[in-house]
Amino acid sequence: MEVDLGEEYAAFRLEMREWIEANAPAGLKELADWSWQPVAGGKRGAALLKATADPIYREWTKRLLDANLICAQWPEEFGGRGWDSIRFAVFNEELRRHGVPAVRRGMGETLVGPPIMVHGTPEQQAYFLPRIVSGEDVYCQGYSEPNHGSDLGAVETKGVVDGDELVITGQKTWTSGAQNANMIFVLCRTNPDAPKHRGLSYVLVPFSQENGVTVVPLRQMSGASGFCEDFLDAARAPLFNVIGGLDNGWAPAMTTLGFERGGNATTAHLGFEQELWDLIGLARKNGKANDPLIRQRLAWCFTQVQLMRYAGLRLLASLAEGRQPGPEASISKLFWSEYHKSFGELALDVVGADAMIRPDGEGYATNEWQDVFFASRAGTIYSGTSQIQKNIIGERALGLPRGPQGIAKVT
Ligand SMILES: Cc1cc2nc3c(=O)[nH]c(=O)nc-3n(C[C@H](O)[C@H](O)[C@H](O)COP(=O)(O)OP(=O)(O)OC[C@H]3O[C@@H](n4cnc5c(N)ncnc54)[C@H](O)[C@@H]3O)c2cc1C
Repeated sequence: MEVDLGEEYAAFRLEMREWIEANAPAGLKELADWSWQPVAGGKRGAALLKATADPIYREWTKRLLDANLICAQWPEEFGGRGWDSIRFAVFNEELRRHGVPAVRRGMGETLVGPPIMVHGTPEQQAYFLPRIVSGEDVYCQGYSEPNHGSDLGAVETKGVVDGDELVITGQKTWTSGAQNANMIFVLCRTNPDAPKHRGLSYVLVPFSQENGVTVVPLRQMSGASGFCEDFLDAARAPLFNVIGGLDNGWAPAMTTLGFERGGNATTAHLGFEQELWDLIGLARKNGKANDPLIRQRLAWCFTQVQLMRYAGLRLLASLAEGRQPGPEASISKLFWSEYHKSFGELALDVVGADAMIRPDGEGYATNEWQDVFFASRAGTIYSGTSQIQKNIIGERALGLPRGPQGIAKVT
C-alpha cells in the first residue's frame, strides 16, 4: 500500500526515480545486499563496510554529493536540499526500489547536525556542517560513562577552560563506531557548582591519540567490537567547538535527543520484513514450519512487522497533513526493539540445537542467526532503554506524573 501524497510528491518521486536510474553506477546494486540490516550489531556490518570501500560506492557517493543528495533534508544553506520529511521518505523508497544504498553521515547527520543548526552560531554552522556532509568529519557520541547511562544529567567528565580552549578529562564508554570516528561530541561538566543539568557543556572534540584520547575496543558477546571505551586525558578543543554556549549543554543535548523526522517511516520495517522471510525460508527447509508453535510465533512476527509498516504510513500521512511528530520516536523504538528481542529468540528455536554450536572459522566465529540473536539483545538498551522509552511515553504522551528521576536520554 502506498499513501497518495498528491501530485507534487508524485512528480518528485518520478524525478528521483529518473535521477537514480541515470546516476547509479553499474555494479553498485550487486556490490552488497544493501537492504539487509534491520539493526546495527553482529558481524553483518563487516560485509557492508567492505562494500563501502569499493570504488563503485565511492563514485556513487560523489554523484550524490554533487547533486546535494547527502543530508538532503538539511537546509540548502547547509549543503542539503531543504527537503521535508515526505521528500526524504520518498527518496528512501526509491533507493530501496532500485536496490541501491542511501549514503548517510551517521551520527554527524542525525545527532550532531541538528543541534548545530539550532544552537550553533553562523560561524560554527559554516565550519562544522559542510564537513559532516562531505564525510570529512565522522562523529561518535560521548554521552555514556561507566556510572551514568540513562541518567545523562549526572555525567562527571570534566571540562576546564584554559585560555581559548576547553580541557576535557574523564571516561566515556559504549561509544559506538569510535574506531571510524575522527570527532566525538562530548557532554562534560564545566560548572561543578551549578545544579545537575545546568553545569554541562556540549563540545565537539578532535578524537585522536595526539589529542589525549585513548580508545579501547570492547568485545561484545557476538565477538565483534562495535563500540569502545574512551579515556580523555586533558583532550583539548577550542571554545569555538562548544555548541550552545558554556554550561548550556543540556539544550543542544536535548535537541539531539528530540530530533525526529519521518524520513525512514515507510522503509524502516523493510529490513525486519526481509529478515523474517529469510527465517520462514529456513523453517520451511528444515521442517520447523510444520511445528504449530513455531508457526504461531512466525505469524506473530508477521503481524508485528505489518504493524511497523502501518505505523510508518500513519506517521507519513500525518506529516503530509502538516502535523508535527509526537512521541512516535519512543513508541517506535520500544516496539521494534522488543519485537526484535522475541524474533532473535525465535530464530534460534528455528535453527534448533545447531544454534548452540559455533561454526568453524577464524577467531570467534558465529553464524548469521547467532549474530541476529546477539544483536537483538542490545536493541532494548541503546538509544534509551525500554524502561526509559516507557517513561517518555507515560510522561509526555499520556501525561502521567513524572517518575522520581524523571526521564533521561534517548541515544
Ligand atoms: C550496543 C550499544 C551501543 C551503545 N552506543 C552508545 C554510544 O554510541 N554512545 C553513548 O554515549 N552510549 C552508548 N550506549 C550506551 C547506552 O546509551 C546506555 O547503555 C543506556 O543509556 C543505559 O545506560 P546504562 O547502561 O548505564 O544503564 P543504567 O542507566 O544504569 O540502567 C540500568 C537499568 O535501570 C533502568 N533504569 C535506569 N533509569 C531508570 C528510570 N529513570 N526509570 C526506570 N528504569 C530506569 C534501565 O532501563 C536499565 O534497565 C550504547 C549501548 C549499547 C548496548
